[in-house]
Amino acid sequence: MKITAIKTAVVEANFDWTFVRVYTDQGLYGTGECFFAPGLTATIKDIAEVVLGQDPRNIDYLTKLMRRATSCAGATGGTVFHAITGIEFALWDLLGKHLKAPVWQLLGGKWRDQVRIYADSHGGHTLESLGPCTLPRTPDWCKVQAGTAETDQESFSPKGYADMARQVVAKGFTALKFDIDIFTGHHKCETRPLTSDEIQFQISLVKAVREAVGPKMDIAIDCHWRYNINDVLKIAWGCEPYNLMWLEDPTPPENVENLALVTRQTKTPICTGENAYTVHGFRHLVQTNACHIIAPDFQKAGGVLEARRIADMADAYFIPIAPHCIASPIGTMQSAHICATLPNFLVLEFHAMDVPFFDAMAAGDGRPLIQNGHVTITDKPGFGIELNEEAAREYAKPGENFF
Ligand code: MG
Repeated sequence: MKITAIKTAVVEANFDWTFVRVYTDQGLYGTGECFFAPGLTATIKDIAEVVLGQDPRNIDYLTKLMRRATSCAGATGGTVFHAITGIEFALWDLLGKHLKAPVWQLLGGKWRDQVRIYADSHGGHTLESLGPCTLPRTPDWCKVQAGTAETDQESFSPKGYADMARQVVAKGFTALKFDIDIFTGHHKCETRPLTSDEIQFQISLVKAVREAVGPKMDIAIDCHWRYNINDVLKIAWGCEPYNLMWLEDPTPPENVENLALVTRQTKTPICTGENAYTVHGFRHLVQTNACHIIAPDFQKAGGVLEARRIADMADAYFIPIAPHCIASPIGTMQSAHICATLPNFLVLEFHAMDVPFFDAMAAGDGRPLIQNGHVTITDKPGFGIELNEEAAREYAKPGENFF
């Protein structure tokens, strides 16, 4: 079997859902999904040349070949890794179809049939769509202009957060996540010192969510790397009575020692990892116990095999894994296959509650991918999910190829 072509398609959703397909001379193809990045599809087109004509079943070898070929353009992470990761996922989908086996089985079998999902939740009635440089945009489907903390103060309030949290509970989720960094000028300056009022307001949001959902719901809170150690420790200490599942990315990702200082001084569990790539990107973090939970993004971290390496290393240090995920149903199901095989799996993210066509992106009987806060893993070959091309074309990003 030989690779004959690699093509892409992009759907303009809350982010650019970037699909990559690997075609073969035997008529089979596999589909993967990449985390967005500026210039991503052009990067995929260039990297495709490295593996054209190769046997797609040699997945580890081909992945290392692509990494070596692009080492001067991102030896440890970045856009080339997003591209390589999507291609690697497509190779696994292809291998599963070729062997008529689900990917979870090829990875050593599963620990669970249902993968628990947490709902990333925003304050109030907002729709959010961000371009490849995370600038806000308004696609045709996004009829309601996205609100901000300045324009939508009612929903970005303790009451607004509590209302949204109740809606998430009503949908059957057992875990959710809220951002608390959107009120403090983060877009103007990172790690700007917070005032006492700002810190107290953020803690009041967490209190409101906990009181709205009761003691059993798991709550995560995201800081998006905005804060200095002193300020975020005050937030973490203030959150301790509310029994968080985790506080995410309290300090910038470049400095693991700073993060470790936060981790060691609070009872609130600290989670990080969506900006790290490969097992090497997590090694120092895990070996120094600089966080309590890791959250790699499987659509960018290096591929299915790399995801296993990261998860297995964390497991050796008794650290659970809660993967970050902003993908379409395709990428979400692909991440779920990996999660099904991990002994140290905690919960997987769902970031598209605001996207009205999320479920339409998957071909088939139209069954919602997430039911009662879980994704059910099937025995279908590959990742067991196909893109609904008709629906994908409807929301295709202008100016991008569609396979
Ligand atoms: Mg995050």
